Amino acid sequence: MKVALVGIGKIAVDQHVPAITGSPDWELAGTVSRHGAVEGVEAFTDLGEMLDARPDIRVVSLCLPPVPRFDYAMQALAAGRHVMLEKPPGATLAECHALDAAARKAGLTLYATWHSRAADMVAAAKAWLADKALTRLTVTWKEDVRRWHPGQDWIWEPGGLGVFDPGINALSILTEILPDPLHVTEARLDVPENRQTPIAASLGFHHPGGAEVSAVFDWRPEGAQIWEIEAVTEGGTLKLTEGGAHMTVDGSTSCTAAALSGEYPRLYARMAELVRDGRCDVDLRPMTLVADAFTLGRRVPVAAFHD
Ligand code: NAP
Repeated sequence: MKVALVGIGKIAVDQHVPAITGSPDWELAGTVSRHGAVEGVEAFTDLGEMLDARPDIRVVSLCLPPVPRFDYAMQALAAGRHVMLEKPPGATLAECHALDAAARKAGLTLYATWHSRAADMVAAAKAWLADKALTRLTVTWKEDVRRWHPGQDWIWEPGGLGVFDPGINALSILTEILPDPLHVTEARLDVPENRQTPIAASLGFHHPGGAEVSAVFDWRPEGAQIWEIEAVTEGGTLKLTEGGAHMTVDGSTSCTAAALSGEYPRLYARMAELVRDGRCDVDLRPMTLVADAFTLGRRVPVAAFHD
């Protein structure tokens, strides 16, 4: 199938292009970006021009930041194209519901991807937790914003999510692996005095079984980068580390990763399956948790952030 990539920036170049070119399902047939392009691929600077000029490209994959994404997605759906969305699927929940409704009405595939759910050990963690009684779960997501988001101003603007941009990855794993639904009960948002979005956050959740569930996200640590979920259950302790790439149970690694290595190859394989089957996959639970953290969050001003 032919796919066009829209928004040729960091994630498109780092992950989408290699995943598409390495896949037996896909051909990268076009790009749309005001400044970026991919060598050897027809490049457009305007989505409408690409949609008119290339009726053979039936799938559009959007790698833009969340705020501009809705208009692009609606335009692609209105032109009868299947759409794949980077995470988070939009700037607001209402936008995502509107896209979902439009896709379903038109009989098109809409896939709201969560790349961290496609990390190597997430499926194994879900299987292990399925029959365990949870007592405590702690999410620790700490990374250096200067290292991972150099020069990206949109993450500090309204709709850019701040530290929830990586934090939502943790929440996408959490909502996938836990058999029980969670909701946010409290949140603290540390917002630099010169920015609109938080640089750190801590969250408390309600768990129907009464387990103690909490999360800490921080964009300030310059040393060790930590992306961990620890789940203490009556049947042992599961630890997912490196963003879901590794898993231990009671300290030992016993499970093997699912077939087909790599988050983005798995996302594109899933998109191929959804298009073939004429289905949508839009799970908004991670984004609901983030929206609720912003609704409930106690905003604490912290030191100004400069790149
Ligand atoms: P980015 O490099 O800052 O932006 C991607 C591209 O989007 C830019 O190169 C730009 O291309 C286009 N763009 C930016 N603002 C726009 C606007 N207002 N209107 C239209 N186009 C605009 O961002 P990114 O890091 O690739 O992230 C994009 C999405 O992927 C985000 O939702 C992010 O959460 C997700 N993601 C990022 C990473 C990562 O490691 N960075 C990892 C996983 C997921 P042109 O200027 O050429 O049009």
